[in-house]
Amino acid sequence: MNTTSEEVLWDRMIREQIEARGIRDPEVTRAMRTIPRSAFVPEGREAAAYDDAPLPIGFGQTISQPYMVALMTELLELTGTERALDVGTGSGYQAAILSQLAASVVSIERIPELAEQARSRLARLGIANVDIIVGDGTLGLNDSAGFDAIVVGAGSPEVPEPLVAQLLPGGRMVIPVGGDHVQTLTLIRRGYNDQVRTTTHGSCVFVPLVGVHGWRA
Ligand code: SAH
Repeated sequence: MNTTSEEVLWDRMIREQIEARGIRDPEVTRAMRTIPRSAFVPEGREAAAYDDAPLPIGFGQTISQPYMVALMTELLELTGTERALDVGTGSGYQAAILSQLAASVVSIERIPELAEQARSRLARLGIANVDIIVGDGTLGLNDSAGFDAIVVGAGSPEVPEPLVAQLLPGGRMVIPVGGDHVQTLTLIRRGYNDQVRTTTHGSCVFVPLVGVHGWRA
């Protein structure tokens, strides 16, 4: 794809799929104008990179629809200081968007080949504040630091308890919760006195979250 046609499609994606559908946070839009989605789709599919759809990335997985990435990111209300967790690295696109909006990102992927591909994409773009780890993201990360923001890019039958436990006071988590075909986008906020508030933000369709606190493999 030549640069001009990429710019045209990319700009149209931002205006028609992101801004026109009500994404208001200018920082989210800025991040999506900075990170080329074409770098996160399989070779030869670059022309489809700005389509209003998820795309296959191999291993039965997908890169999420651009609007869904924008919506989940906006719900996290990032200010630039956060330690963020991204569960389900997939292509690495969501992690790359978070890298622009949070201080640091840990991203967990269960399929080693996808993790490796995502690592090289981020390196090629010069993104240095994302750590990609192979493992079961339903367990979160076994350190004691906790996260200000957690985004889960796969659908889960329930909210994994370890992820709630690793949310810091004031922290936000976005996760699709529901069946294996359709889920409800769910936002969980942990208050400063440890109460947890849950709100829902419409239906969505994600690949299954497979793990100890997700779907069985
Ligand atoms: N955020 C990704 C979306 C990828 S699709 C992107 O921007 O491209 C969801 C990904 O979650 C898949 O790659 C799948 O392998 C991964 N996944 C599913 N269950 C997981 C788990 N328990 N831990 C880590 N990754 C998981």
